[in-house]
Amino acid sequence: MEIPSLNLKGSPIEIKYTENEGRYVVASRDLEAGETILLARSYVSIASDNVKKNVCNHCLQYSPSTLVERCSGCRQVYWCDTYCYLSNRDIHKHYECKYFKNFNKDYLNQQSTATTSATSQSSSSTSSSTSSSQPPLAYKFDDDDWTEIRMLVAILSRFIAIKYLGVGELKAEMPTIQGMTLNFADSTLQDVLSLVENKITESNNKAACKLINLIERYVTLLIKDVHQPQDHTNKKKRQQQQEESQVQLQQPKLNEQQLDEIISMIRPITCKIRCNQFGIWSKKDKCLGVSVTPIASYFNHSCCPNIVDVRGTTLLEFKALHFIPKGSQLCISYLDLDQTTDSRQDYLIYSYYFKCGCKRCNDKGDSIDNWISQFYCQGTKKCSGTYFLEDEERQLHKDILTKSNDNTSATTTATTNQTNKVNLTCSYCWKKRPFKLETLLNPPSNLI
Ligand SMILES: [Zn+2]
Ligand SMILES: [Zn+2]
Ligand SMILES: [Zn+2]
Ligand SMILES: [Zn+2]
Repeated sequence: MEIPSLNLKGSPIEIKYTENEGRYVVASRDLEAGETILLARSYVSIASDNVKKNVCNHCLQYSPSTLVERCSGCRQVYWCDTYCYLSNRDIHKHYECKYFKNFNKDYLNQQSTATTSATSQSSSSTSSSTSSSQPPLAYKFDDDDWTEIRMLVAILSRFIAIKYLGVGELKAEMPTIQGMTLNFADSTLQDVLSLVENKITESNNKAACKLINLIERYVTLLIKDVHQPQDHTNKKKRQQQQEESQVQLQQPKLNEQQLDEIISMIRPITCKIRCNQFGIWSKKDKCLGVSVTPIASYFNHSCCPNIVDVRGTTLLEFKALHFIPKGSQLCISYLDLDQTTDSRQDYLIYSYYFKCGCKRCNDKGDSIDNWISQFYCQGTKKCSGTYFLEDEERQLHKDILTKSNDNTSATTTATTNQTNKVNLTCSYCWKKRPFKLETLLNPPSNLI
C-alpha cells in the first residue's frame, strides 16, 4: 500500500506503514506537552440533520435561533451571515445542492421499477434482495440516518463532479486570524478515497448492514433521479420542471456505465465515512455535525492515548497530552476512556470492527489505568473529555517544558517541578483542573 503524499505543512509528525500495522503516525521529534502537532482542515463537514437550521454550513457555528440565510435551491442548508453565504454558496451549488434538493422525495416508499436493479447488484452478497424490481418499504430514516446520508451525498457529489463532470476541487478560502493565514494541512478527494474501510456485513454487524442497505437503495434512486430523470411525469409538470431547471444548473445526464460506477461507490464510501468521521461538538456537548478529515484518520486508537483532538469546527486541532519522545507512535482515543477493558473492547468491535491490542488493554496490572485516569474529566456532569494543556498555560511554563526535553537537565528539572502546578482544560466541557507539571513531563516508561 502506498503512503499518500499528504501536505503536512511542517507538522512534527511522520506517516509510516507496515504490513502488520497498516498506516500509523509517529513523532518526528520530541513533542512538548500541550504542543499543537497538527491543524487539519476537514474535507467535508456537515451539520447534523436535527440542528441544520441552527448550524452554519460554512463555519459550523451554532446559533440558538434559526439562521437567516437559507439555500434557495435545496432549502436544506443554512448560513449564519452574508460572509459565510458568499464563501460557501458556489461550492455547495457545484456539489451537493442538486441532490439535497431531492431529499424531500420518499424513494424508499415509491414503487421502484426495473431501473433500480443496480442497487441489488452493487450491494452484492450483502443484500438480501436480488430481484430487479423492489417493493416500496415502509421505512423512515431518523435524524442520525439523515446526517449520514448528507455526509455520504456530499462526498459522492464531489466524486461525481470531479471524476465525471470535469469540475475541479473547489475549496473555500480560510479566514485569516489577525491578518495571518493559518498553517493547516489540507486533503483532496483522493485522500478520502484512500481511507481505510472495514467491510460491514450481515455476519459482523447485522443492524448496521441493514441500515446501509437502505441508505444504498435510497441514494441509488436519488442519483438516478438527478442524472437520469424518468419521463413518467405529465407534460405540464415536465414543462414546469424545465422552467425550474433553467434557473438552476442544468443537470448533466450520465450514461448507464457511469451511473453503475458511481452507484458501486456508495457502499465503500459509506463504510469509509463510518470508520473515519469525527464529531463536531459545541462547548455545551451538543453534536453540531460531522467531518471527514483524512489526515486526522491516520492516528490509530489507543485506550491510553498520547494525543487529544480538541473540539473545533472546520479545523481539527491535535495536541500532545504530555511529553512524547521522538519516534513514539501517536494515538488518539475513539471512545470514552472511563470504561472497563471489556466495555471498551466491545464498543470498538461493534463500532470500529477491530479488537484493541493497545498497551492498556494488554496491561495485567493497573499502572496504565491509573496513569490515564488522571486525564479524565473530573467535572460534576459526566463528560467524556480529556484534560490538555492550553496554549496560554503552555506559554506560562514554556521554560520548564522546553528544558525538560533536554536530557542533560532532566534531573534538575524534575526537582524544580515538584512545586509547579499547571491548569489543564477539559477538551469537551472546558472546565479547568490543577495538575502537577512534573507528571506531564514524565510519562511512565512502559507507555513510551
Ligand atoms: Zn457561518
Ligand atoms: Zn442548496
Ligand atoms: Zn485498548
Ligand atoms: Zn469535561
